[in-house]
Amino acid sequence: MVRVLFLGGLGRSGTTLLERLLGELPGVCPLGEVVHLWERDIAGDERCGCGKHFSDCEFWRAVGEKAFGGWHHVDVWRVLALQHAVERTRHIPRLASVRMSAAQRLLVEEYADWYARLYEAAAVVSGASVLVDSSKHAALAYCLRYAPSVDLRVVHMVRDSRGVAYSWTKKVSRPETDGAQEMTRYSPSRSALLWNAHNTAFSVLHRCGVPVRRVRYEELLDSPVETLRDIASFADVPFPTAEFVKDGTAELGPCHSAAGNPMRFTVGPVPLRRDDAWRTALPGRQRRVVSALTAPLLGVYGYRGAR
Ligand SMILES: [Zn+2]
Repeated sequence: MVRVLFLGGLGRSGTTLLERLLGELPGVCPLGEVVHLWERDIAGDERCGCGKHFSDCEFWRAVGEKAFGGWHHVDVWRVLALQHAVERTRHIPRLASVRMSAAQRLLVEEYADWYARLYEAAAVVSGASVLVDSSKHAALAYCLRYAPSVDLRVVHMVRDSRGVAYSWTKKVSRPETDGAQEMTRYSPSRSALLWNAHNTAFSVLHRCGVPVRRVRYEELLDSPVETLRDIASFADVPFPTAEFVKDGTAELGPCHSAAGNPMRFTVGPVPLRRDDAWRTALPGRQRRVVSALTAPLLGVYGYRGAR
C-alpha cells in the first residue's frame, strides 16, 4: 500500500502553502498537482518546482522509469480521455454511489491505476512514507478510492469564501510557462458557486469510507505548528519538531512539486500571514453576493459575518 495525503478544496484556499509546509516534514514527499502532470509536464514539459524542465528533473525521470519504463510509455491522450470521461465534478454522485455501471467502473479503475503506479514509483524513488498530492479536485479523490493499492487520506482545506472569491479576481502569471500564460480568473459569483460545489463534495466524501480531515486556511496561518502536528498525526507520520517554522515565518527548501500554484517555486523564508486583503479590497456588492450564495456552508465551517 502507498499512503497518499490528498489535499482537496477549491483553488486559492491555501493548498499549495500547506503542501510546501508538509514537504518539510521528514518522511513526506510533495508531488504537486498530479492531476495536471500528464498534460502540462509529460506532454508540455513545463517546469518542476526545482526549476528544471520536467524532462530534465532527475527525480521525475527516475519516477517515470520506475513506474512506466520511461514517460514516453505513458499514453497521455488516453489518460486525458479517461480524465474527461470520469473525473468531472458532475460525475461525483455516480462516483460516490454503488450503482456505477460495470463499463464505467472499468474506466475509473484504469484512470486510478495511472495514479497508483506513479505514486508507488514516487514512494520508492523518494523513500518517503507519505506522498502529498495537492490536486484539489474532489472528483479525483473519489476516483482514487478505486485504486486498491492506495491508502488514501484527504485533507479538506477550506477558506473563507470571500477571500477565495477575491483571490480568483486577481491577475497571476504562470512562471512555469516562462510568462506566456496567466492563471484562470473567475467572477465572484462564479467562484462562490464553485466554492459550494467543491466543499460539499469533500464534506460527503467521508461517507464513502475515506478518512477526511478538514483544515481551515485561517487556522493554518494562525497556528501553523499545531495544525501541521494534527495533520501529521492524521497521516501517521512522525512530527519531531517544526524548526522550519519560527516567529511567523517558514523556511522552505527546494521541492519537486510538478504542477500547480507558482508558490511551488518559492525557496527560503515565507511569512505565515493570513491574506485578508479581501476585507478591504472586495467591493461591498460583490462581498454581499458571495456571502449570500455561500451562507449555509460558511456557517457550518464556523465563519462569521455571513451577511
Ligand atoms: Zn524537479
